[in-house]
Amino acid sequence: MATIANNIQEQHRRIAAACERAGRAQHSVSLLVVSKTFPAAAVREAHAAGERAFGENYVQEGLNKIAKLADLRSQLAWHLIGPLQSNKTRPVAEAFDWVHSVDRLKTAQRLSEQRPDTLPPLNICLQINISGEASKSGIAPADLPTLARAVAALPRLRLRGLMAVPEAAADFEAQRQPHRALARLLADLKQQDPPLFGGLDTLSMGMSADLEAAVLEGATMVRIGSAIFGARSYPDKSPSISSSTPA
Ligand SMILES: *Cc1c(COP(=O)(O)O)cnc(C)c1O
Repeated sequence: MATIANNIQEQHRRIAAACERAGRAQHSVSLLVVSKTFPAAAVREAHAAGERAFGENYVQEGLNKIAKLADLRSQLAWHLIGPLQSNKTRPVAEAFDWVHSVDRLKTAQRLSEQRPDTLPPLNICLQINISGEASKSGIAPADLPTLARAVAALPRLRLRGLMAVPEAAADFEAQRQPHRALARLLADLKQQDPPLFGGLDTLSMGMSADLEAAVLEGATMVRIGSAIFGARSYPDKSPSISSSTPA
């Protein structure tokens, strides 16, 4: 039972150490606990250990967990971090707090139209295909300004920043490169139009295997799954998962 809490504590230690190395304040990086493939009971345990932000990849799995944890709903922030088809936006707009994986204007438009007036605007990150892999979701960096401008104009969305899932790399310097590129993209966007983009505050990058590299390059939210819950027991569709991640 103590394992999830211990692993969470260890992730906060990793974040603190990386922040210290980077000369950043520890509270400038938040932990998003990625609970995909793990049951609601595991989320409950992480909540008991003090965590409040949870990431899910698959819409239906996320909705099931949100329903099972309805008693905690007001305390939790639910983040969709996996691909979202534009015909599945409605339940996401109604149930989630964040979507990190927006890479089409049509999806964003539907999320905005379908976001209930009774809820605050849905927080949005635009997903960038930062390593240029053919198999990966996300827009090309060159397409960012146009999409960002269009999404920023949608009334029921709040554009927060950028997200990426870089190609896995074992070497630390190689891990830093795509994170540095994503941070640069956000900085350039903010500089391009400070009134429109100056408030963007989120760099969603860094997973179990590359948390330190991401924090060194400016991550504000790291998405950690297997280092907290252990290896996922059924196949995951995300091609970047490193099987060498320590649990
Ligand atoms: C699964 C997943 C994570 C967490 O990955 P771990 O290596 O288990 O920490 C983070 N982000 C996305 C988009 C994922 O799909």
